[in-house]
Amino acid sequence: MSDGRLQATGPRWQGGLLAEGEPDAAQVEDHGLEGALSPFVLTCDHASSRVPAALDGLGVAPDDIQRHIGWDIGALDVARHMARAMRGLLIHQAYSRIVIDCNRPPHVAQAFPIRSDGTDIPGNAALTGSGAAARVAEIFHPYHAAIAAALDARAGTPTALLAIHSYTPHHGDFPDPRPWPVSLLFNRDSRFSEAMAAELRARDIDVGMNQPYVVDDDGDYAIPIHAERRGIPHSLIEVRQDLIETDEGARHWAAILTDCAAAAFAVMTHRKGAEHAQA
Ligand SMILES: [Zn+2]
Repeated sequence: MSDGRLQATGPRWQGGLLAEGEPDAAQVEDHGLEGALSPFVLTCDHASSRVPAALDGLGVAPDDIQRHIGWDIGALDVARHMARAMRGLLIHQAYSRIVIDCNRPPHVAQAFPIRSDGTDIPGNAALTGSGAAARVAEIFHPYHAAIAAALDARAGTPTALLAIHSYTPHHGDFPDPRPWPVSLLFNRDSRFSEAMAAELRARDIDVGMNQPYVVDDDGDYAIPIHAERRGIPHSLIEVRQDLIETDEGARHWAAILTDCAAAAFAVMTHRKGAEHAQA
């Protein structure tokens, strides 16, 4: 299809959460040209502020769901502009992070936050076991299965995973505004993030490294499960929301990140080639 969107395949789990006409959790956009494989697979866990109709807004005012607590403002725009420029694959998630946070293991409490940056989420405080199971089965699993399938299909092909997020400049728990326009997060393997940070710094961009968050196995999902276990280059990229609220801003930062990611991948590939030559 001309806009790169793939049709969903397979029957949908009938658990009673998502209604007919509501989107599948996993939204797959292949921006690659036929035969021209980009190494980049992009994900956007917090792309949407949508809440399934069956959950009645989780008891949260619509204006609050549109705040950063409901989604990563601007992140999908950045990810989509990057995927187009890279001719890569983008997989984004169609429901709000307060329905289920797809970057958390589903067994941790933060997967279903009962309060976020000063706002109570009554629909999560009242969450039952079967209610949580439906969100896992209909949103979390299909989304991560789509990412796993895309990466499995590329086994043996040079691949890098970029998890695109955005952060609020002002968070209630942290009174000082966050100074970094971009932060790169990682845990066990810093190589791609360090190579990309060098490219950003060469452009005089103040890049945060594992700021203001860190990646770990209890608080994160995509990087430990999809990237670290496969041993593929990766970074979790956070962009400050005030810079990407407009399409112009999103395009600007997507262009910078695309260039820096491509350069970082080339540096890593070159290094690997040099190691092989020495061996
Ligand atoms: Zn996020």
